[in-house]
Amino acid sequence: MTWRVTVDRGRCMGSGICTALAASSFVLDEERSRPLSGETAPDETVLDAADSCPAGAITVTESGRVIGPRD
Ligand code: SF4
Repeated sequence: MTWRVTVDRGRCMGSGICTALAASSFVLDEERSRPLSGETAPDETVLDAADSCPAGAITVTESGRVIGPRD
């Protein structure tokens, strides 16, 4: 099973929360976050980052279904 991770760089405000929570999955690039890989093995820290993003910029999908951020 693989998750797809995207960051809407137009919404990202560069808070760095995702890079702090999931340093192996996100990196700040010119003051905006991007995923280190577009696909990842299931990783709770990625969902935590999506939940914590103040801009709602992170989306995690599994088989086309949005699983993060969680409600
Ligand atoms: S938590 Fe959200 S706003 Fe902050 S750097 Fe990550 S994607 Fe950008």
